[in-house]
Amino acid sequence: MILLPLVLVVGLVLTAQRIPVPEIGRGYVLRVALPEADAPTALPEVAGEEGLPLVVIDAGHGGHDPGASGQGYREKTIVLGLARALRDALEKEGGVRVALTREDDRYLVHAERVEIARRLDADLFLSIHADSAGEAAEVTGASIYTLSNQASSEAAARFAERENATDRLNGVDVGGQSDAVSTILVELSQRRTQEQSDEFARLIRREGEGAIRFHPQPRRSAALKVLRAPDVPSVLFESGFITNEADAQRLASAEGQARFAEVMTRAIRAYFARQQES
Ligand code: ZN
Repeated sequence: MILLPLVLVVGLVLTAQRIPVPEIGRGYVLRVALPEADAPTALPEVAGEEGLPLVVIDAGHGGHDPGASGQGYREKTIVLGLARALRDALEKEGGVRVALTREDDRYLVHAERVEIARRLDADLFLSIHADSAGEAAEVTGASIYTLSNQASSEAAARFAERENATDRLNGVDVGGQSDAVSTILVELSQRRTQEQSDEFARLIRREGEGAIRFHPQPRRSAALKVLRAPDVPSVLFESGFITNEADAQRLASAEGQARFAEVMTRAIRAYFARQQES
């Protein structure tokens, strides 16, 4: 809907540069300054064969937002390294398509990251982060986050409010329905998405056992903006503590990145295998 006025304006500029204004009785040249800063997010390239399920990998932070820092490392750089390693591993393995929300050191707001996944019609969304424990340098280990139930139903309500005029969720047309019906459809979609997100989180834990050092309570849920797509199963992986020397070195090393990519690749494959069964 945001695009519509822009498209109309561009159409006017392109097709009718001289617009007669009868009151004045002569032609006018219409000049319209198009907004540059608010251009819609460009969609990233998708690698892999058409028809395969799509995984969107999101490296957190970037650009002016470095994220956490510690041990001489910055989160935005570490997580981009992990995202690239996973993308490469998935491309090599085949069986899925893959795209990154950012491939370089740029900043994206949370809504853009979610929007990229939704506009690409992604089947799975993984946001990668690294934690900070401040002065507590001994705290280590990875955690797996999904959206909390409370945040999930709030997001569903907001989404229904905002988008129920013209939208499709999980192949169901929620446009043209009464508000009550479309709210229910959005909630159903969101609930199914939550179950799938939980399933993916469980598989990461299973595949990572013995290969990745986890935090003592690795399964968490929170009101994270980047996990709010009502129709794309989404998990945020806190890969470790950048404030811990061993964690930071592991995450920044080629070997640590490869191990992370291997575990995630197995979890992603197991996830899609299960989706096909059900
Ligand atoms: Zn982060």
